Amino acid sequence: MKIDEIFAENVFNEDAMKKYLPDSVFNSLRKTIFDGSPLDTVVASAVADGMKEWAIKKGATHFTHWFQPLTGITAEKHDSFISQKDNKLLIEFSGKELIKGESDASSFPSGGLRATFEARGYTAWDPTSYAFIKDGVLCIPTAFCSYGGEALDKKTPLLRSMEALNKSSLKVLKFFGDENIKRVIPTVGAEQEYFLIDKKLHDKREDLVITGRTLFGANPPKGQELGDHYFGAIRPRVAAFMKELDEELWKLGVFAKTEHNEAAPSQHELAPVFTTANISADHNQITMETMKKVAEKHNLVCLLSEKPFAGVNGSGKHNNWSLITNTGVNLFDSGNTPLENARFMLFFSAVIKAVDEYQDLLRISVATAGNDHRLGANEAPPAIISVFVGDDLMEIIKSIENGGKFKKREKREMKLGVDSLPSILLDSTDRNRTSPFAFTGNKFEFRMLGSSASISDCNTVINTIVAEELDNFAEELSSAEDFNERLNEIVKKTLKEHGRIIYNGNNYSIEWFNEAAKRGLLNLPSTDVAVTHLSDEKNIKLFEKHKVFSAAEVVSRRDIMLESYAKCINIEGETAYAMAKKEIYPAILAYIEKLSETVKLKKELDSSISCKSEIALISKLSDINDNISEISDKLSKKINEAKTIKSVEEKAHYYKNSVLSLMNDLRKYADEAEMNIGKSFWPFPTYVDLLFSV
Ligand code: ADP
Ligand code: MG
Repeated sequence: MKIDEIFAENVFNEDAMKKYLPDSVFNSLRKTIFDGSPLDTVVASAVADGMKEWAIKKGATHFTHWFQPLTGITAEKHDSFISQKDNKLLIEFSGKELIKGESDASSFPSGGLRATFEARGYTAWDPTSYAFIKDGVLCIPTAFCSYGGEALDKKTPLLRSMEALNKSSLKVLKFFGDENIKRVIPTVGAEQEYFLIDKKLHDKREDLVITGRTLFGANPPKGQELGDHYFGAIRPRVAAFMKELDEELWKLGVFAKTEHNEAAPSQHELAPVFTTANISADHNQITMETMKKVAEKHNLVCLLSEKPFAGVNGSGKHNNWSLITNTGVNLFDSGNTPLENARFMLFFSAVIKAVDEYQDLLRISVATAGNDHRLGANEAPPAIISVFVGDDLMEIIKSIENGGKFKKREKREMKLGVDSLPSILLDSTDRNRTSPFAFTGNKFEFRMLGSSASISDCNTVINTIVAEELDNFAEELSSAEDFNERLNEIVKKTLKEHGRIIYNGNNYSIEWFNEAAKRGLLNLPSTDVAVTHLSDEKNIKLFEKHKVFSAAEVVSRRDIMLESYAKCINIEGETAYAMAKKEIYPAILAYIEKLSETVKLKKELDSSISCKSEIALISKLSDINDNISEISDKLSKKINEAKTIKSVEEKAHYYKNSVLSLMNDLRKYADEAEMNIGKSFWPFPTYVDLLFSV
């Protein structure tokens, strides 16, 4: 297999466009893709014709508007290319069908935006992400909105935030005088962690089947403490999976690059080469979906849940983020000239300020019930946000704070107090894995995302908050008499005022928790607490100003997030109850019966034989079962109570405080029982079975 022969063979990319579209159409489309200029309907019709011809040649029979509703995954509804005229078959796909779709939105979460009498939703073509063919279906990436134009998806706000960031960046860059810079685009590379386990074993566990994570399970004698899995040799079954996954992703134009074993047994990672934030978000969805599909073909299950197993690492996603200009300049590259150094420091300061001022939004952008089990546990960055900058940059920041200056040299050239930024930045930054937001040489790596998250959410936030700070900087610069002087002031003031967000130490340590509290940094440990802040006044103002969300959209998203949190714990609670009642309790009972029978038989045989251990165990297991019975009944009661709560906020709190906590209690007893009864009596595969099966 030759990579270049299969790469993007199922993508209507520039190569395919050139082949299937007339030159003038191709050029118009290209202008839309790169400059964001609107596309007229005549051009759209021509694009649709070319796309249809290409797709049919590839064997596609259907098309779909592929979109990303607020469920966090993707949705599609297939239409065939078939129509008829005078009872004769026609193969058709019009410009109208390409540009706009209509679908019943009533079953997707809308957070009250879509009144039931107006259940229609609309999908609108996003020409900045290429169409592709998946399982014989031409998939057209689209945005999804309500009749009134409110966003009902994750793509629309992401695109809006990219536009806001472009605008603000250009405003700032104007002062640096490069006429060729016309557009600034956020780039993203999302590293994806996942678990692979045997499907036959998976299917024997109701918790895995229903919730994607284990709700019970005693710790295995060996976890990840030896560090022998991380980067270890990839076993044949996994290697075969990865090979097919790579091929499938390459065909879809996903830049799958690095594959390796992760820290926990059965845990792996895939990292792509970065691309624009929008395409990256689409590609990450395709990646997650393809992982699941390919796994099934290998009799495996790919677990994307954040914490499938207690006691070993959970899975996250690292969102590498940077800014690139249409001229190919990475704006977080410290550069070689004083001018580039100054530009870098200004953009860098904007990020520092943004992260400090909007810690809450970053935290909220990764908040789910699943991710709560990871954040703050000792394998993932805590729920407290801070930025790692590394020693070199720290020294520069200190020197600027202490009066180091961008000195005026020639016309419009500026110089830092230090000669020029050391070019070693790239190599020396970050091997600190504990930081939630790390500067890694020429990009920032946001590490708090859960493995199942859509990366659209956090990138929407990062783009918007950085846009806000750049916009304010541009404002300040525009009123300056001496540009250099003002730039110096801005950088110095920003770093001084927001330096509290910088932390280069161990984010997992207890010292940091105390220190962060002293610095006044936010600590929002759980989703129900964090998400309520989404609609804080300052956040609504921010999103409205940059036209990323209206106030109504913000409120609807807050409610949807809280509702999903409650629903998730509800499903987990019901599953835990069912497993405890129908599987665990009876299994323990069976073992008690076996022990009791043994005691009886032994006594019959010879009353002097010791039955000490059996009797002690019978007593212990009986106590455990009493507790399991009592707690599961309580759990059921609390779940029923939770369902009657009207306010979404209260409901979310209740599920955490009353339902989740009982599930944890229940688990303690069940796990203890597992350690005390015969293996053949335990009703489902254990952690040892699951984690060392592939
Ligand atoms: P790590 O040490 O975190 O495992 P990797 O090299 O595996 O780092 O992953 C780094 C990720 O960052 C890759 O997905 C890569 O494509 C991405 N990346 C590199 N440069 C940029 C950039 N300028 N913008 C966005 N992402 C980038
Ligand atoms: Mg990483």
